[in-house]
Amino acid sequence: MKTLQKISGWANYPIVEAEVTSPQDIEGVRRCILANEQIIARGNGKSYGDASLGHRVISTLGLREILDFDPVAGVISCQAGVLLSDLLPIIVPAGWFFHVTPGIKQVTIGGAIASDVHGKNHPLKGCFSDWLVSFELITAEGDIVVCSRHQNTSLFWQTCGGMGWTGIILSACFQLQRVPSSRMRQKTIQCHSLDGLFQAMEQRRPESYAAGWIDTTSKGSRMGQGAVHLAEHLVEDTPIQWLEAPKTNIPVFAPKWLLNPMSVRAFNALYFHKNKNAEKVVTMDAYFYPLDALRNWNRLYGRRGFIQYQFCLPENNAFDGIRRLLEVVGKSPEVPFLSVLKKHGERASNAVNTFPIKGYSLALDFPRTPTIFRLVEKLDDLVWHLGGKIYLTKDACSNPKMGGINPSEFGHPKFYSALRTRISPIH
Ligand SMILES: Cc1cc2nc3c(=O)[nH]c(=O)nc-3n(C[C@H](O)[C@H](O)[C@H](O)COP(=O)(O)OP(=O)(O)OC[C@H]3O[C@@H](n4cnc5c(N)ncnc54)[C@H](O)[C@@H]3O)c2cc1C
Repeated sequence: MKTLQKISGWANYPIVEAEVTSPQDIEGVRRCILANEQIIARGNGKSYGDASLGHRVISTLGLREILDFDPVAGVISCQAGVLLSDLLPIIVPAGWFFHVTPGIKQVTIGGAIASDVHGKNHPLKGCFSDWLVSFELITAEGDIVVCSRHQNTSLFWQTCGGMGWTGIILSACFQLQRVPSSRMRQKTIQCHSLDGLFQAMEQRRPESYAAGWIDTTSKGSRMGQGAVHLAEHLVEDTPIQWLEAPKTNIPVFAPKWLLNPMSVRAFNALYFHKNKNAEKVVTMDAYFYPLDALRNWNRLYGRRGFIQYQFCLPENNAFDGIRRLLEVVGKSPEVPFLSVLKKHGERASNAVNTFPIKGYSLALDFPRTPTIFRLVEKLDDLVWHLGGKIYLTKDACSNPKMGGINPSEFGHPKFYSALRTRISPIH
């Protein structure tokens, strides 16, 4: 099935007109690859920027079959278009969960591999690829190749974090982790400075999940104030169930004025006061996927969309670098609405295309104003100078070198040329 559609990533910028083909089986994928000179895979479109955009797109959402689940070993095989949310009601009641999960459950397995996603436990568990047993990939020539750490190894590592530039992932097999219950013990530590925030991140127990929030509007001695949210799996003696938090929907795009510098500052001040030191027990859904409770929250930015800028700095430059970046942002007219700070550990030496490097990453969400692109240029310069990189799955407007990977070294032009020429948006 082929349709002409206006498509975008999660941040609603850029929007492009694309011919979207949605094959329902592997033969359909092969036919589509062979019939097109340029094409890019699209999972569920939850990357923020232009990663899954092109004028010709192949949707993997028709490949939605769970192929095998071993509830004793915790190993699962499924097609690439299966969403994490399709798997949770099956694996959690059997006592299993993902070793690594992003902060949203509506992503496909193909998308999780192509971005090599990370979670709030990177120092301990690494990225999605660390738990991958194998996957099947269809190449530009239409050949199906099985890739693992022992078979077609270089293609295996190039595809993990390779943004779909090596071919289309058809299916994958990966290892799950045992969990003692479906709830988490969560601790909030309120921090009155950037220094305090980094100390709380550093002093966590190794088995804890951790993510920091920075009030990016705070200035002077309070610059970098925020909160760290730590969590561990709760051990309890009740049957394990997958419990979804109730959802609220943002039904329409908010007006452009809703998120203005004044309202964003007020939100940050309020959120800081709400995040007092506390402990509570929450469901796994509420802890791992808090934003899923507000369906279509991306519409809060209005039709203009937003830009998420996520960068990672090496350990030796992380604290000072983040402080300098916050100063640059503080002096600009742009005010980020949300921020997420994460600590990252070593990455597997073969995982050449994976985003995190040992150090810290910070994600900042900016409304798309006419002047945001100038700020992104400045941030790119600083991140580059500090030896850092940006996360390509969030990117819409950075200099291509900032991703730290070069598709012409490992990808096929059929798959990467659409992105590298930076498709011109219709909005
Ligand atoms: C609210 C929110 C929170 C998030 N939190 C995190 C987080 O904590 N950590 C993190 O790492 N990421 C996070 N992300 C990003 C998200 O996990 C990734 O962008 C993921 O790749 C999206 O999967 P998707 O199925 O929507 O893929 P798409 O957005 O459709 O595609 C993403 C990339 O994968 C490629 N791709 C998709 N399917 C295939 C396939 N079958 N074969 C080959 N290539 C393919 C595409 O070409 C594209 O380059 C978050 C996103 C949102 C919206």
